[in-house]
Amino acid sequence: MDAAKRSIVRKYGGNPALLSIGTTKTVKELSAGEPSINLLAKVISLNSRELEQDGKTKEIYYGILGDDTGTVPFTAWEVRGLNIQVGDVIRLQNAYTKEFRGEVQVNFGNRATVTVEGGTLLEVASPQEAPLTRRNLDELQEGMRNVRITARVLDIERREVEVRGEPKVVFSGTLADATGKVQFSAWHDFGLEPGEVIEVEGGYVSAWRGLPQLTFDERSRLERGKETALPPLEELDRARRVWIEELVQKGGGVDVQVRGIVVEVREGSGLIHRCPECRRVVQKGACRIHGEVKGETDLRTKAVIDDGSGALTAIFNRELTETLLGKSMDEAIAEAKEAMDSEVIRDALSDLLVARPVQAQGNVTSDDYGLMMIARSVTVLEVDVQAEARALLEELGD
Ligand SMILES: [Zn+2]
Repeated sequence: MDAAKRSIVRKYGGNPALLSIGTTKTVKELSAGEPSINLLAKVISLNSRELEQDGKTKEIYYGILGDDTGTVPFTAWEVRGLNIQVGDVIRLQNAYTKEFRGEVQVNFGNRATVTVEGGTLLEVASPQEAPLTRRNLDELQEGMRNVRITARVLDIERREVEVRGEPKVVFSGTLADATGKVQFSAWHDFGLEPGEVIEVEGGYVSAWRGLPQLTFDERSRLERGKETALPPLEELDRARRVWIEELVQKGGGVDVQVRGIVVEVREGSGLIHRCPECRRVVQKGACRIHGEVKGETDLRTKAVIDDGSGALTAIFNRELTETLLGKSMDEAIAEAKEAMDSEVIRDALSDLLVARPVQAQGNVTSDDYGLMMIARSVTVLEVDVQAEARALLEELGD
């Protein structure tokens, strides 16, 4: 029906983008689960992230929209010709809403149209009036503005990106203080160097699947802080050990460490086949997008780790899985061939990991299926039962 309406309007010389299909709402009126809404709103923050989905790189945009009734986070997936920037007033049509972590989120689906409204004045509900508030990095949450932080730059990378066809430079990396880590994007060259302590006033926080990100630019005040204000780099760089419960509450974490018991090695672990075009996992000889393909072999582990406070799924890539198995992927392929069963490798991983304590470290994100860690390291812990028992007895004796 949408397509038919559009083509009729186009045929008679109209602009199909102006065809109003959904219901026009204000931000305050939005509720989760609306299949088609229209919104006139200002882009308050905008970030993009390269997302690797089943091995293929995609660009996704996310940020905050606002009008005079409030603000709302948004996500835009593959919207053709999306060309917006911070400060634009946009007319968004045929978008939908969903609930994400208890909040309404606007999604620009592939049916959405976005028109930049030139010269339209739109008052946005008092985002600039947020008082400057000092925050620890572990307190940063999506939607916070005008924050004041002191942090050490752990790493920084210069990237060239295109915003509205204009080349721009963004500096992104990781910041840390004694409470945690956060990713950042600086849309201005502050000449930042890894290791230095900085004080930033006036950035805003967005989040992507639970991973908080602090964004600031030339309108923010940035000064060098006292070298002694924070612990040294090596100490801050260490992944912070957290309970999974905390990750559940926050929806994710940057470079954290968990310890727990592997309760399951999930299906899709061991030897898998990926589509040579898009790197998605091939099932029954077919890629979801490219149909029948000759898959390329890969090796990975999807382990469910439970630490008593909660559980997450950790993904160990080929390299980590090879280390766990103590054999290369080629050796694993040979073994599966000999057994004439590709599941032997998953079985071997189950034998190695299930009911064993492990320590894993990496970024944790969340979606509708729960928490997921992309591990950058994993160790199977050797438990000295006698020493643990002695320590427990001593603790009880006190
Ligand atoms: Zn494919």
